[in-house]
Amino acid sequence: MNPWQALERELDLWPAPPTMWWRDDDAIAPTAALERLLTITADASIALQLAVIPALCTTALAQRLADETDVWVLQHGWDHRGYAAPGERKRELGGPRPRNEILQQLKRGRALLAQQFADRALDILVPPWNRIDADLLPALPQLGYRRLSVLGPRPAEPTDIGRINVHIDIIDWKSRRFAGEASILQRLTGHLEARRLGTVDASEPTGVMTHHLDQDEDCWRFLAALTDRLSGRVRWIGGPELLEA
Ligand SMILES: [Zn+2]
Repeated sequence: MNPWQALERELDLWPAPPTMWWRDDDAIAPTAALERLLTITADASIALQLAVIPALCTTALAQRLADETDVWVLQHGWDHRGYAAPGERKRELGGPRPRNEILQQLKRGRALLAQQFADRALDILVPPWNRIDADLLPALPQLGYRRLSVLGPRPAEPTDIGRINVHIDIIDWKSRRFAGEASILQRLTGHLEARRLGTVDASEPTGVMTHHLDQDEDCWRFLAALTDRLSGRVRWIGGPELLEA
């Protein structure tokens, strides 16, 4: 059975189409790659969530998105700089920095996005590299965030702040190339199956993570194939619905 057939077989076992959502990271300006992404998602009537880097975001991006009706903005940290302590993996939100400095930057970023994107900006924080130090989490709701989005199934038990995670990364970051159809589809099918069997939180929509600026041709081809294959088989959600999912 090829991986597409395995995915279809899994979808056949769902009594109603499972929910999914799409998060794309690192947007700061309109580019040819962003246009390509907007075309793919609009053609498939899929809501698109752009994790935008506040400190680097251009007014041109806000202008470009002004007339889009189903493109939403999430906050991608502040400036996407790495501050990890020696031996730690890359992170912006944590490491050895003073907590107050991190929280002040987040607050500034949130205000900036609200100003540029108005109600298109959702109170969802996407930490760069999907990492945030645990001691920062209790402060997030006070800053106004309603959801945190990192990589992997969310915890089954309630946490400091609600999660709306992604589960599928289409890039292999060691080679910075397409991660390969078989492994991506296995992950997708695996998350759907785990939801169906209740070994992860069944109500968490399966999240696809893309990076429009880093994608090679194989990535783009795959995304076109994926939206096509999933058409009518899953329910893509987005926008404010993510705050309740
Ligand atoms: Zn990023």
